[in-house]
Amino acid sequence: MAETKALDKRALYRFPWSMNDNPIGWLEITDICNLHCEGCYRQTLSKHKTLEEIREEVLFLKRWRNPDNMSIAGGEPLLHPQIIEIVAFIRQQGIKPILLTNAIALTPDTLRELKRAGLAGFTIHIDSHQNRPGWQGRSEAEHNELRQHYADMIAEVGGLYTVFNSTVYPSTYHEIGDVVRWGRQHIDRVHGLVFITYRTATTEDTVGLDAGSHVVDLSQLSYSTEHFDEAFVTGPEVVQAIYQTEPSYWPAGYLGGTLRHDSFKWIAGALIGNEHGIYGSVGPRAMELAQVVHHFFRGTYLAYLSQSRIGAKVFALSLIDPAIRAAAGRWLRDVLRHPMHLFSPIRLQTMGIIQAPDVQPDGRADMCDSCPDMTFWNGTLVNSCRMDEYRLFGGLLTVVEKGKQAVREMRETQAEPAGES
Ligand code: SF4
Repeated sequence: MAETKALDKRALYRFPWSMNDNPIGWLEITDICNLHCEGCYRQTLSKHKTLEEIREEVLFLKRWRNPDNMSIAGGEPLLHPQIIEIVAFIRQQGIKPILLTNAIALTPDTLRELKRAGLAGFTIHIDSHQNRPGWQGRSEAEHNELRQHYADMIAEVGGLYTVFNSTVYPSTYHEIGDVVRWGRQHIDRVHGLVFITYRTATTEDTVGLDAGSHVVDLSQLSYSTEHFDEAFVTGPEVVQAIYQTEPSYWPAGYLGGTLRHDSFKWIAGALIGNEHGIYGSVGPRAMELAQVVHHFFRGTYLAYLSQSRIGAKVFALSLIDPAIRAAAGRWLRDVLRHPMHLFSPIRLQTMGIIQAPDVQPDGRADMCDSCPDMTFWNGTLVNSCRMDEYRLFGGLLTVVEKGKQAVREMRETQAEPAGES
């Protein structure tokens, strides 16, 4: 087992993304879903949006986000009756459409139609806390069978970028390695893995306050639960779990938090390998070059590649990137031992980690700096993970301990000018 290795922001590339120049446009086309995942941020309040509303949102995001790709999310976007037209409209705007789905409604016929409409790829959410019919009580390793089913179905059609994401709970942290090992074995059709660390607000010991300090019913939010006393998994802990499984993995870039100087909110990297094994990882220098060159020539930053098969030309980046140089050395030694491996295409497999909002002692939440998943709400941009606070309560909440709220109320009462009633 590899030893743990410290994650140092100074040794990583900080992505240059911002509110108005961000590779991702986050588009929610429905809030209806056919599953009830434990870690979901959305509940059904408004149902399917009309095609007209969706087109307006796409144009808004195109104007104010400058996206390279549009993440079509929900709810479950495959349930929207006009999903094909939506994908086609996004492609007509010169933006890569990526479908974020649980894939339950995905069939080979729909897949072909989506590809014809211009779909660039999928991010398929599968994890063991989704309560999928027939899959309850089964481990992450067992869910690899389901991941494999969809990876094969998409590979059959070909030409679509395929990422699998899963929410990581304290109880499933030790199973991250099972998913990484599965992905490593199928690098030809699994182009990326994303791990999202579970967060929730608790109603037993905290209350939510709106912008006017009024107490609101926190239990209305899907991301609240009565009681949760386990320690949340952090992004750097997920890095260690991947590293223990694949010692040639190390991240290349990050986004920090909006409040804490030391938080890691997005951690991104990519493995370099082929069906014979993993040779190493992309380093921060190559990650920086990819962002800068893409922005220079295409005018946008980059979050999703168009294809994972990049070939041995990636090793030319050895000149500027020591991590790629190390991978090139391992690949060369492998080819000298097994000359036929020279003909196995070199691929990238991206590794993403997202550490969702962390509530701080003062009740505010540490969010992702330059949030890549901001979405349209009421003519403005909001963090999609907290949009239900806007939809239900008109804005972001602060969460405070019940005792502290009592003290705050007492202070406010005492501060009221005498005689005013
Ligand atoms: S702050 Fe943005 S990127 Fe981070 S979890 Fe929330 S929506 Fe996602």
